[in-house]
Amino acid sequence: MSARVLVVDDVLPNVKLLAAKLTREYFNVLTAFNGPDALEMVRKESPDIVLLDVMMPGMDGFEVCEKIRSDPATMHIPIVMVTALSDVADRVRGLEAGADDFLTKPVNDIALFARVRSLVRLKMMMDEWRLRESTSGQFGVIERSGTMLSESFERANVLVLEDSALDLEKVTETLQRDHNAVVAAGTCAKALERALGSELDLVVVSLTLLNEDGLRLCSQLRSHERTRQVPILLMVDEGDLGQVAKGLELGANDYVVKPVDRNELLARARTQIRRKRYQERLRSNYEQSLSMALTDSLTGVFNRRYVNAHLPRLLERAFDSHKPVSVLMFDIDHFKVVNDTYGHAIGDEVLREVSARSSRNLRTFDLVARLGGEEFIVILPDTDGEAALIVAERLRSRIADTPFAVSSGGGEINVTVSIGISVGGRLGDTAEGLIRRADEALYEAKRSGRNCVMADARADHLEG
Ligand code: GH3
Ligand code: MG
Ligand code: MG
Repeated sequence: MSARVLVVDDVLPNVKLLAAKLTREYFNVLTAFNGPDALEMVRKESPDIVLLDVMMPGMDGFEVCEKIRSDPATMHIPIVMVTALSDVADRVRGLEAGADDFLTKPVNDIALFARVRSLVRLKMMMDEWRLRESTSGQFGVIERSGTMLSESFERANVLVLEDSALDLEKVTETLQRDHNAVVAAGTCAKALERALGSELDLVVVSLTLLNEDGLRLCSQLRSHERTRQVPILLMVDEGDLGQVAKGLELGANDYVVKPVDRNELLARARTQIRRKRYQERLRSNYEQSLSMALTDSLTGVFNRRYVNAHLPRLLERAFDSHKPVSVLMFDIDHFKVVNDTYGHAIGDEVLREVSARSSRNLRTFDLVARLGGEEFIVILPDTDGEAALIVAERLRSRIADTPFAVSSGGGEINVTVSIGISVGGRLGDTAEGLIRRADEALYEAKRSGRNCVMADARADHLEG
């Protein structure tokens, strides 16, 4: 991971010092010496993180930060304010301007690298989700996710690991100002149990426990699928930056120093809660758009669009590995009669049950798709004509031999299908060709009286 870091400071030696430290750790360093240049650099170079000096003549760091945050093209870039100010009021002002963190000069190396690495990691993950979202957005089926700032930070579920009653009360009271539901745990084990049993938006972990190391909880949270993405905010003693660095390496997202400043805690908690919710929205939009774009909403099996994208790749692989791919094309017999007799809704039920029976009777890596109307396709990787014939015959009988139970007094309906088979995997085989040959075989099956299986003539010659 060679991240690109933009260092902004009006004092040349400061820039040189930071740049040297970062270069030694294999970061790519860009530099700017004032606000306007920094903004231009951010727009042109789109760095992975910005280390921003606060006190600069002309445009100060707060203003630069606000400008980066208000431009949709740059608002996702992490910003760390680097400043001589140790005043808490300025920290909060920076966080409100949209900074992700503060470092005080002289910059502590451990804190610097840990902070930069963890923010860059986070950004890369978010970039990945945004890219996927924009790809799936091209299918045009979903609303875009908006920005992180459009997420609410209120009414979050927060877990606090803390064994000091005094600190716990302060943290709880502060977080409740945003109407959060705050639950407490006094040990790592209790905290983990709670975390695994509920849907959390934030975990606050004290690293000043009397009998335990809170970092244990961090590592446990990251190792469980259920809690892998939940934000972790550490609380540490002043001067315990070694612990912070370890925590950030383990996957914690941020930290506050005790005694905790209420406004700072609240500002950092809000950022984490929003980020989590934003990330969740990106992911669920992505999954939803994928499933809408590539599956059939009536039956839940794949659709034609997916087959068109997937079959050519399967054929390529089949040719490379000298293993055939078989295709079954099937169509419900006299389906129009079902609709005419029982109505369209019952017809839909039959379509769903045909899909379900097909999926149930195949291997997990076989694929069923509805091409439209009452026409389906089954794709069987690593399957020759002989095996495909057995599968097709089984499918046909699973549908024909057991009548379909339908709702609303429909009773039971006898349903049959006709199936055509083709096999591909030779040089020059195309997806269109394969589908056309299966379709011709299907037509033969219909002509031969329906409820039967026919194979394309070439299917015999290609065996595994
Ligand atoms: P064949 O044995 O030759 O295939 O006869 P068929 O009646 O199945 O074929 P035909 O193409 O004449 O009719 C297909 C029917 O499928 C007509 C259409 O109303 C029905 N159909 C297509 N899509 C849907 C759907 O989504 N739901 C329902 N209920 N019916 C559908
Ligand atoms: Mg300065
Ligand atoms: Mg039909």
